[in-house]
Amino acid sequence: MRDPRYDILFEPVQIGPVLTRNRFYQVPHCNGMGHMHPSAMARMRGIKAEGGWGVVCTEECEISPLSEFSPYIEARLWDERDIPALARMCEAVHEHGSLAGVELAFNGYSAPNRYSREIPWAPSNTPVRGYDPVQARAMSRADIQALRAMHRAAALRARTAGFDIIYVYAGHDLGLPFHFLTPRNNRRTDEYGGVLENRVRLLRELIEDTRDAVGDRCAVAVRLAVDEQTAGGLRREGEGAEIFSMLADLPDLWDVNVADWSNDSVTSRFAPEGYQEAFLLGLKALTRKPVVGVGRFTSPDTMVSLVRRGVLDLIGAARPSIADPFLPKKIAEGRAEEIRECIGCNVCVSGDHTSTPLRCTQNPTMGEEWRRGWHPESVNRARHPGRALVVGAGPAGLECARILGARGLDVALVERLRTLGGRVALESRLPGLASWSRVIDYRLDALSRLPSVEIYRESPLQAQDVLDFAAEHVFIATGSHWRHDGVGRALRYPLPGLECLPVLTPDDLMAGVLPPSPVLLFDDDHYYMGSVLAEQLVARGVEVIFVTPAADVAAWTHNTLEQHRIQRRLLELNVTLIASHTLVRGMPEGVLVGCAYTGRTRLIASASLLLVTSREPEQALYQALNSAPEQLHAAGIHAVTLMGDCVAPGTIAAAVYSGHRIAREFDTPADSLLVRREIPYIEV
Ligand code: ADP
Ligand code: SF4
Repeated sequence: MRDPRYDILFEPVQIGPVLTRNRFYQVPHCNGMGHMHPSAMARMRGIKAEGGWGVVCTEECEISPLSEFSPYIEARLWDERDIPALARMCEAVHEHGSLAGVELAFNGYSAPNRYSREIPWAPSNTPVRGYDPVQARAMSRADIQALRAMHRAAALRARTAGFDIIYVYAGHDLGLPFHFLTPRNNRRTDEYGGVLENRVRLLRELIEDTRDAVGDRCAVAVRLAVDEQTAGGLRREGEGAEIFSMLADLPDLWDVNVADWSNDSVTSRFAPEGYQEAFLLGLKALTRKPVVGVGRFTSPDTMVSLVRRGVLDLIGAARPSIADPFLPKKIAEGRAEEIRECIGCNVCVSGDHTSTPLRCTQNPTMGEEWRRGWHPESVNRARHPGRALVVGAGPAGLECARILGARGLDVALVERLRTLGGRVALESRLPGLASWSRVIDYRLDALSRLPSVEIYRESPLQAQDVLDFAAEHVFIATGSHWRHDGVGRALRYPLPGLECLPVLTPDDLMAGVLPPSPVLLFDDDHYYMGSVLAEQLVARGVEVIFVTPAADVAAWTHNTLEQHRIQRRLLELNVTLIASHTLVRGMPEGVLVGCAYTGRTRLIASASLLLVTSREPEQALYQALNSAPEQLHAAGIHAVTLMGDCVAPGTIAAAVYSGHRIAREFDTPADSLLVRREIPYIEV
């Protein structure tokens, strides 16, 4: 039964001509599927509707090849031929009584048009965002009229596809209407430039055009970034609020956020839940139309408070809806404690950056709904349930046990340590990563509801213990450890001279060892570990010299929108950064490093060396078991399966996915494990 405190979240809200059944609103979000994998996108969105999101939107939707976002895979409504793909999504969303929204986007200088080779349009002549050697050209008045016509035509196509809410997109410093708003992008001297009234003109016209075209049946939403959180950018307290006031009641719905995307989707390492509230406060008083906003909301109490305090009418979510497509339904059914809370890691964002279907650390079914037929809340019962032993309670083992238990197996989950969670238990104690423990919390809660799963702590298993246990199915999730010799991407052989100075790994630091200062931290991992350890060391009074073979600190975190923040933080902490260098040899006085381009070497004085390079799978138990197949047979063990980091160390998301997949596919006929894919239509 639903907690009456949360009733307010289930009130319907009128949005122009359409009514949403509750206040849960999945705002537009990228997913790496878009126009390339439309059935996958439709199924993923449909499941959100099934899970109770009253409104489910697309990602950015290109309206013309004059502004296309390749290689990023977004939705597309260039012409009539794109309608059926998006109609599929609308049907999937409508099937569950939800509204479908589409974010029509024309991104001007933010899209270099790598595919179409069209010259991008902008308010004024300007290089494109990023480093493509392309300039956008200033739009003529005729271009502005053409843009309005294109937008109008796309709105009509969107209505034909079945959308209920149609966006004019002025967010993230991506949409062209936003570029017109900001003086640094708009240096025009005609009626579209200069004073604010002029800079707002295009956005106003696009709202009016859209209403005129489709307003009888569809709501017109505006996504506006009211603050850019950057010097010289739009400010909420300045023109941000002014623009909002000028257009106050013109759209049917305001979807308000901050720019750019890295500020809108901040990771939990850099901002807590509700981090956008300061920018949202007070906006609702300026309009009679409903307002939706985001802030990685996963707590129903926070959501209620936002509505009661008059901050928002609709609770916007991208990541919380990815981590748990059934979040609203769980609140509705009085199961709020079962919510799989987003951990704020932005692995989902990396799908967009790498042009691949999105994935999620918490929700391993994300992106697999259509191609593998996975549902986030249901699994098939095993055909031949039996006894399973899962060794290791890291993210892979926990997830595997959860799914095996749900499939009806009797499961023993056995962990060497008292603490469950493996690497997540350790890593979530590092600076800024506390929310990552939700990976464990969610799974322990789910396991506590499965009477057929027993957990044994402080039980290190040897091969003989496994044989004695005599489960029919053995799953090994024993994880990995950090290498101690520097081998990784840059160094393919152990670093010479390691005996000359104290050498540590992340495992040592997480076990509480403090290296002598100053420490040379060699980060050849390029994700979060090197930088969080640097932060921790500085906090503990150790001077850090951070050496990386890449040009940027934590280079992969460009994909999680964090790189800039990480580098800034390390600089603010006075960490010495030495980029584009690798290690040559350890010496008593420090470490000899070499330039990645010239090979020129120099000695960096340091008292110790911290190697963040690569990890080795813990396969000893697996190998011991496999070395004696006859004993396995005699013990009645049908199969021993490796999973997670002890196959190949990777992200936490990969470990969860591995545990999930193995448990879900276990005991499933091979011919039903087909991975569906959509094949491009051949024009004839
Ligand atoms: P993954 O990311 O693949 O889940 P982790 O390293 O996070 O891997 O977790 C592996 C877990 O397995 C750790 O908690 C570790 O203590 C446990 N473990 C390793 N070897 C054994 C063993 N022989 N018996 C029981 N538990 C083990
Ligand atoms: Fe949240 Fe991380 Fe999942 Fe994205 S990948 S939805 S940030 S848990």
